[in-house]
Amino acid sequence: MSTYPARAVVDLAAIRHNVRTLRERAPGAAVMAVVKADAYGHGLVPAARAALAGGATWLGVAQASEALALRAAGIGPDDARILTWLHAPGVDFVALLEADVDVSVAAPWAVDAVVGSARATGRTARVHLKVDTGLGRNGVLAEDVDSVLPALLKAEAEGTVRLVGLWSHLALADEPDHPSVRAQRVVFDDVVEHAERAGARLEVRHLANSAATLTAPALHYDLVRPGLAVYGMSPVPQLAAPRELGLVPAMTLEADLATVKRVRAGQGVSYAHLYTTTQDTALGVVPLGYADGIPRHASGGSAGPGGPLLVGHDGAARVVRIAGRVCMDQVVLDLGPDATEQAGDTVRLFGVDEPLPGGGTAPTAQDWADAAGTISYEITTRLGSRIPRVHV
Ligand code: PLP
Repeated sequence: MSTYPARAVVDLAAIRHNVRTLRERAPGAAVMAVVKADAYGHGLVPAARAALAGGATWLGVAQASEALALRAAGIGPDDARILTWLHAPGVDFVALLEADVDVSVAAPWAVDAVVGSARATGRTARVHLKVDTGLGRNGVLAEDVDSVLPALLKAEAEGTVRLVGLWSHLALADEPDHPSVRAQRVVFDDVVEHAERAGARLEVRHLANSAATLTAPALHYDLVRPGLAVYGMSPVPQLAAPRELGLVPAMTLEADLATVKRVRAGQGVSYAHLYTTTQDTALGVVPLGYADGIPRHASGGSAGPGGPLLVGHDGAARVVRIAGRVCMDQVVLDLGPDATEQAGDTVRLFGVDEPLPGGGTAPTAQDWADAAGTISYEITTRLGSRIPRVHV
């Protein structure tokens, strides 16, 4: 018996495979699997372990709490280097240093905080200096690097800090030919050269996310930081589907139909009757809604087609789109007059981009992103916590 009529099945072999693919694409670099945000909704610890089994040697997270959760789960310093990068004053650097976590410094306040914590613990803080080479987000602007670099090198001479990394993040990695990609690389190279001339002995320079790992070898440096591709989603959906990149989507989101009922032509469907049946037909109720992370923007009606679901089995599998509004806990499908589906049948919202017998491919998280006017990252990271994750 189940207590929830839906599940996100996470294929850990797919994660292992995707990391192996990324390693092949960046043979000269180590791989940091980015597992922030509960591994993009896939489950922090199991996904991290699978990524390590696939050959990642680093794990990357945004929050201190995520790094500490990985260590608390038993992923030790011999298993993985962990870098955490988004801190605000008050962050518990002491706990991070005691857990043997590398920390990013992205602003002058963080230098004092890290050095103070290193003194308090008697440990040497492994620091990665985050430089804003053009993204306009977190990080020290390239022209302001000397507001932190001398203090870090002084702390290194004292033994409280080891400046192991210099890193940055791209604004338009998903458009490999965009001039900003080259411009950021030039700034990055300049800052690396400046830091090394000032005495930095960098172990890792890193700039590449999934898109750059797969499309821009010149940006690999010593370490690549893929997230999305680890989970098998395409970081360049306008250029290539997962299978064309050698990636396998790891998550399959499926639900059991709560009910199937016959209705007449002219039946308004769901809130506001955005959709009205045009013939006598069968409606199926899927027990997932916006509280589960199904985007309300993927409603289907006169404004556009709704999110796609795969219904039916094997040779008869077909894609049916949401009819009407996405509700908090449920969506409705117009299964058509010849539907044979019954309550309890499993339907799939997204998963592997496998070819379908009637043409086209099975729906992916990217298809849901397209239906909702967003990106695939948002589809999996926003999946509600009440949906059980089943790791296989
Ligand atoms: N590096 C940083 C700093 C990030 O914030 C992220 C994710 O947003 C990544 C790497 C991984 O990016 P992607 O999922 O596009 O590979």
